[in-house]
Amino acid sequence: MKSDPALQLIVPPRMWAGFRQAMLASRFNQGEVIGFLFCTRHRVSPRKWRLLPKAWVVPTAECYEHQSMGGLALRQSFHWYLYKTYIERGLDVVHVHTHPHCNVPRFSAIDDYHEAEYARFLSRLPGRLRLVSGVFDERMTQGRFRAWPIKPDWQPGPAALSTKILEILDADCADGGREFACAARFDRQRAFGLGVQESLGAIAVGLVGCGGIGAVFAEQLARLGVRRWVLVDPDVLEETNLNRLPCATPQMAARRWPKVRYVKRLIKTAWPAGSQVTSLCLPIEDRQAQRRLAACDLIVVATDNHRSRMLAQELALRYLRPLVSLGSHLEMDEACGSRRMLCRVTIPPVDGGWCLCCGDVVDATLAALEVAPTALCSIVSAAGYLPGIAAPAVYWLNSCCASLGVFVIHGVISGLLDIESGLDWVVDFGCRKWLEVAHDEQPDCLYCSVDGLLASGDSSGGFEMRPMESMPAMASISTQSTSPLLAGAGENANEARHIGAGFAKEEQER
Ligand SMILES: [Zn+2]
Ligand SMILES: [Zn+2]
Repeated sequence: MKSDPALQLIVPPRMWAGFRQAMLASRFNQGEVIGFLFCTRHRVSPRKWRLLPKAWVVPTAECYEHQSMGGLALRQSFHWYLYKTYIERGLDVVHVHTHPHCNVPRFSAIDDYHEAEYARFLSRLPGRLRLVSGVFDERMTQGRFRAWPIKPDWQPGPAALSTKILEILDADCADGGREFACAARFDRQRAFGLGVQESLGAIAVGLVGCGGIGAVFAEQLARLGVRRWVLVDPDVLEETNLNRLPCATPQMAARRWPKVRYVKRLIKTAWPAGSQVTSLCLPIEDRQAQRRLAACDLIVVATDNHRSRMLAQELALRYLRPLVSLGSHLEMDEACGSRRMLCRVTIPPVDGGWCLCCGDVVDATLAALEVAPTALCSIVSAAGYLPGIAAPAVYWLNSCCASLGVFVIHGVISGLLDIESGLDWVVDFGCRKWLEVAHDEQPDCLYCSVDGLLASGDSSGGFEMRPMESMPAMASISTQSTSPLLAGAGENANEARHIGAGFAKEEQER
């Protein structure tokens, strides 16, 4: 029997906490409870998928027809609400229900029956929607997931849940994790723990920008123990870079080495064996570059322009990946007496709230100007709106910024640093201050809100509405699926048919 591609459900920590709390709060009279996550897809590779929740719903007491220790059934009007609000828009369905007691629960025969029916119902809708189901103990601490296949004769496959930031999603890709972590080269950083070293060895980092900050960052993080890299930068090495790139030589500049090739050399010097480095001498606009970056555990952007930072942010929001933005700013204007020496590390919350765009870290106008035709750029530049391309840059400032970035990653993996609500640090060398920038939540942001790009996955963005004419009539849905009833619901097939009939009836009345 053919097995289905491996499936991962990515739920950001704050979302999972909210969902779990709502599940626990909706438990009445010790009854079972159910909750839903509606998801977009991220096709990581031909054999690997991720589901990204766009929204979650936990029904309140009024939504249940009955709710007991023996099972549950939802009102038809609630099913209809879910259908119209989420399913019809082409979102895959994840449902989670609880079983009484605190053991690791197993799916029951009733679950099997109803879930298979529901999966069949979803698979016949436009977009061939998927069902992933989860069953948890009554405290929502232990559970398991399974992914229902599109083909009815296939068996459900395993599905994994990830609810942590920087959780290693492809642990199988990193060979010999424990052996690696025990290597003598990590003797002096063993204080952080063997598990931390193992995670560093397994994590895949996508780095956009391999210049002054990116190169130092990669060198340090590789030495710390990160071996899996995707490097993206379309630029080549020039003589003017030699003041701040570690181990860069005049020969490399003369031969115009791509910066990704040079950074790959840095990583390979630290890791002659046992590392995987993909170097893409491409702009971040490139689809291949975006696909490779989205599959990483973490995206780091260290470029010198607004446009690429904005695109990295879009990618991170779309695929629910953590984003680390590293930047430095050096301004020495003797005439005006202005001296600014800043470096900034920004990590917006992975599940939205604020982002580089609404948090004033990147400027959308400048980002647009950066790709404007040269003629327009020179007019704008003459008017003083566009900063010069060749901004001043110095090794020590870049290196401080890169080190802070490395610390943040090490800190998160070690559990020393919490970035669930994001982080934004500015070190102001001119004023001798380390500032923590606070951000307000921006629920209307076009980028980081649910109505924006957040968790859009591979879909074209936003809440994708499907045209009505491509929908089958509701009556045919109810005959195709005898039961839009959900897992754990109902004790017998008669009840399922009753609910199915109700589904059709409601349509006829419309
Ligand atoms: Zn935003
Ligand atoms: Zn059940």
